[in-house]
Amino acid sequence: MFRGKVVLITGAARGIGRAIAEAFAHEQALLVLCDVRPEGLEVAKRLGALFVYADLALPEHRVRFVEQAVKQWGSIHVLVNNAAIAAPGSALKVGLAEWQRTLEVNLTAPMHLSALAAREMVRSGGGAIVNVASVQGLFAEQNNAAYNASKGGLVNLTRSLALDLAPMNIRVNAIAPGAIATESVLEAIQMSEHPELTRQDWEDLHALRRLGKPEEVAQAVVFLASERASFITGAILPVDGGMTASFMMAGRPV
Ligand code: NAD
Repeated sequence: MFRGKVVLITGAARGIGRAIAEAFAHEQALLVLCDVRPEGLEVAKRLGALFVYADLALPEHRVRFVEQAVKQWGSIHVLVNNAAIAAPGSALKVGLAEWQRTLEVNLTAPMHLSALAAREMVRSGGGAIVNVASVQGLFAEQNNAAYNASKGGLVNLTRSLALDLAPMNIRVNAIAPGAIATESVLEAIQMSEHPELTRQDWEDLHALRRLGKPEEVAQAVVFLASERASFITGAILPVDGGMTASFMMAGRPV
């Protein structure tokens, strides 16, 4: 489905981003991956991808990521804005620097990269952007103000981009994952601010009574980026095992 298509993925060194890269590699896409973690290079080597070291908090690194992609493959068809940072802390305690970095990486970088990539997509007649938001973009978790705000912003940025880029035949969608069993989430469960919550409690936040797998999130991203989703734009797809289907689950820590 993606043979010969150029796909850019941010934050692909581990977790969901790595699973997204593996899924597109399976579809024979031409991949460009970026991350601040050096492990990204190993992932890229294994998948035959180009790796660009980039700290997405820095505008010049974002520009270089897109420029390197175009230099390598000549065009861009798909952008997946996956990289994000967590910034636990209440609205009263979050420091301004931490707030700004969270918004820069989780919201401003997707906006900037989308604009840069869209200019290249236009030259190929269109494209697709998929943003990795969160159920925390749909409702808020206590003591997570910066992350909640960044993901809520990303949800509505997705709709704005969908409207603004539709005339250029660029579709823009987002997914909103529930709790996915990545290294970072499994660590966070162990070191939780809610030590009374067991892994079973986290699993029970989902109607399907388990955590999601990174590959399950990746399949939703591939679908939204593909021609099979050709009439879908501006959509926010929960990939959450039914978490947001329930009023009761939504009231518990995520
Ligand atoms: P992760 O922390 O395991 O991976 C994120 C990747 O982004 C890492 O490789 C990290 O190095 C990279 N990254 C972070 N800051 C960066 C920067 N400034 N520049 C470049 N790369 C940077 O996270 P994950 O669990 O795989 O989550 C991936 C995405 O899914 C994120 O957008 C996250 O908010 C979202 N999400 C995850 C879950 C979950 O349960 N895992 C749930 C909802 C949403």
